[in-house]
Amino acid sequence: MDERVIGVDLGGTKILAGLVDRNGEIERHRETPTPLTSKEDLLRGLDDAVQALRDERVVAVGFGLPSQIDQRTGTIRGSVNIPLGEVSFRDRMSERFGLPVALDNDANVAAYAEHRAGAGRGSPTMLMFTLGTGCGGGAVLDGSLYRGWAEFGHIVIEADGLPCQGFCHGRGHLEPYVTGVAATKIAQELFGPAADSHRLVRLANEGDLEARGALAAIGHKFGIGVASMCNVFGADLVVVGGGFGVAGFEWLVPAALEVAKRDALDAAGETLRIVRAELGTMAGLIGAGLIAFDEV
Ligand SMILES: [Zn+2]
Repeated sequence: MDERVIGVDLGGTKILAGLVDRNGEIERHRETPTPLTSKEDLLRGLDDAVQALRDERVVAVGFGLPSQIDQRTGTIRGSVNIPLGEVSFRDRMSERFGLPVALDNDANVAAYAEHRAGAGRGSPTMLMFTLGTGCGGGAVLDGSLYRGWAEFGHIVIEADGLPCQGFCHGRGHLEPYVTGVAATKIAQELFGPAADSHRLVRLANEGDLEARGALAAIGHKFGIGVASMCNVFGADLVVVGGGFGVAGFEWLVPAALEVAKRDALDAAGETLRIVRAELGTMAGLIGAGLIAFDEV
């Protein structure tokens, strides 16, 4: 009844860890810098984050990681921006703590958190798009978190289109059209080299029609991706998170919804809703806790 888990959200700059209950409520949490000097230092940092919160009520530990994960073996295959390459993560952690351990990609756990404790409550099937510096995705299908790849940022929305961001060598993927990085590029074309995505959103909020138009154009591209994913998964609820997605929501979503309703099959399109994420920066921690409870 009084059981708790520890959820750990590992980011490129900080480790956010907290005690979480079955409803996804955070009892207390702490934040420490992410050790980036070596894999060993990073794993030690995670150990310390868990031990600092552990008490007799803790029955499992969950991790949200910026990593590609093989769920069958609990192994990390590689990570973005942190020194956490190949490692048998689940075995190492469950041996160390003597507790069941769950792990998943950070975007997947954020989607699960929104489904259980945020904007997706009450919708058995929902998709989440995280629009920040990158574009992440997560899917909850019939109440269960889809534990495989949900790389919505890398679906093709334009044949032979823009080169993708970062290490991705694809072209025309959703990501280079809809992130904060994409918005900064457009802002600089319109308002000069000092402009960025924050300024673009601020100008739109202040009534600038050019800025509103630019965000609507980004929203249009986003809606094309949303429609395709809704057609695949039969989802009629889409949650938008991430720094840029949440800040620009008001200007992105009307255009996204318009094109998504056109491109989605009737069954999804008629009832499609796109809503703003509610859990903010705590989504990863909460979701990591909730996948840990699923292991108990
Ligand atoms: Zn890509």
